[in-house]
Amino acid sequence: MQKLKQIYEGKAKKVYGTDDPELYIVDYKDDATAFNGLKKGTIAGKGVINNRMSNLLMQMLEKNGIPTHFVRELSERETLVKKVSIVPLEVIVRNIAAGSFSKRYGVAEGLVFDEPVLEFSYKNDALGDPLLNTSHALALKLATPAEIETIKGYALKIDRILQRFWAECGVTLADFKLEFGRTSDGRIILADEISPDTCRLWDSATGEKLDKDRFRRDLGGVEGAYAEVMQRLLAHDAD
Ligand code: ADP
Ligand code: UDP
Repeated sequence: MQKLKQIYEGKAKKVYGTDDPELYIVDYKDDATAFNGLKKGTIAGKGVINNRMSNLLMQMLEKNGIPTHFVRELSERETLVKKVSIVPLEVIVRNIAAGSFSKRYGVAEGLVFDEPVLEFSYKNDALGDPLLNTSHALALKLATPAEIETIKGYALKIDRILQRFWAECGVTLADFKLEFGRTSDGRIILADEISPDTCRLWDSATGEKLDKDRFRRDLGGVEGAYAEVMQRLLAHDAD
């Protein structure tokens, strides 16, 4: 597989074309940003962990019937993926109140929901990724009604699979963000990444944060937290 020109450089990854028009290579960086790019830094080794973790979780989801963009891991930081046209929605699933939910609705972090909360943001940096509902998404023609239904169904199924998996690793999945895309033949598949950058992962015993909130909130021990949560996943996989 030949890596051709860079198509895009985002905040956490670079995307390259390949000699196959249906495939991209994603290259994970150590760069970290928060608050819509206002806070910038690096987390040493993050790219390696996020690449591996995302690939292991996507392979696990595939086995459970979720179609994903994962094709093959190429190196520590690079993965071959199916090229998609990204649906410009950040699909957020919450099991426990945290972050912007707690702030917006004035509830303490840690409130456990009876049912998962499904939320969409418009993936648009210039607008600051505003919250939107299904009617807004349809009015803006971001996706068709059928695509929205497919995305909601996948997101809730992914939540059930990931919650169970992380619980077996001694980790509580508070919330996470997903992105979906359309393949050239019009199917919706899971794209982007699933990692401590995009999930809130809390130690089930102590409540300690093992994710990007350590960076966002200057809690220290950022690299250690990413390494710890990766270690738990690998230990589970080795069982
Ligand atoms: P951002 O764009 O938010 O800064 P990243 O640094 O993670 O994010 O950049 C990766 C970009 O690649 C994102 O915009 C994401 O939507 C996009 N992307 C992820 N997976 C795919 C894929 N399979 N095909 C096309 N684009 C993808
Ligand atoms: N998230 C993300 N990218 C974003 C915004 C949120 O991956 O641009 C993830 C975040 O890591 C958390 C979940 O989505 O796991 C919910 O984030 P929230 O809306 O609480 O936003 P935040 O507190 O990060 O501003």
